[in-house]
Amino acid sequence: MTTELICVGTELLLGDILNTNAQFLSKELAKLGLEMHYQTVVGDNPGRIVECIRLSLSRSDMVILCGGLGPTKDDMTKERIAEFLGRKLVRDQAAYDNLVERIHAFGVPDISESQKKQADVPEGAVVLQNHHGTAPGCIIEKEGKTVILLPGPPKELEPMFRESCEPYLRKLCGGTIVSVNIKLKSAKEAPPEIVGEAPAADLLGSLLDYTDPTVATYAKDDGCLIRVTSKGESREEALGKIRPVVEKIRQIFPDYIKSTYES
Ligand code: ATP
Repeated sequence: MTTELICVGTELLLGDILNTNAQFLSKELAKLGLEMHYQTVVGDNPGRIVECIRLSLSRSDMVILCGGLGPTKDDMTKERIAEFLGRKLVRDQAAYDNLVERIHAFGVPDISESQKKQADVPEGAVVLQNHHGTAPGCIIEKEGKTVILLPGPPKELEPMFRESCEPYLRKLCGGTIVSVNIKLKSAKEAPPEIVGEAPAADLLGSLLDYTDPTVATYAKDDGCLIRVTSKGESREEALGKIRPVVEKIRQIFPDYIKSTYES
């Protein structure tokens, strides 16, 4: 199942906030064995949000959108998705009760229409209740595609993902992605003509063309990292494909491996 992520928020485009939701979700989806093919950041602009939704649904099985579920005028993710999928927005009673309770707890007696609208979800959606805020998330299935809406604030998104989104995804996909990371010694500790990223890549040769597991090199400040990655029904199955390749890499760099760890 291919997935992509759309993070909505002009603040992200301006660099006012760091896109930690993208990092969090990327890691969590990889653990579930879901392949993330694209990530997009789009501002709070209705036309561009719809364009991103259209493109992502044309090429991916699942699209996760985060941000823009709040009460203000620039929060429009849910409305645009509902419109695009041709679904009416309907009020979810449990989300509404949660919202009323939270707002009253802040000592606010009257709840505005825009605040109430946060409890509206596209008809037929699975509602992800927000135990840390007022706007629920939701999952919408249509014609073999899945759209997931999550709130922007990480302190709401992360628990919501763990509590209700992850169990749903686990049922949907199965499988996990595993990597074995091989850290070469730094250029201070070993000959640079072997452990530098470019020479190391040359020595790895055709291993870099493998597709399962994949082998990739990364230049880090403290030396080159080689990552061997595979997907399997279980961690053990993925590791079964990875181990022979790790062994080949050990033979290529018999004296220059500093550490090896799984992730
Ligand atoms: P709210 O009800 O607070 O308006 P929302 O779902 O509408 O929530 P946004 O308005 O898009 O979300 O963002 C609210 C806040 O959440 C941002 O000001 C920022 O602090 C945080 N946030 C949003 N998106 C991200 C992101 N991708 N990574 C990290 N933090 C984010």
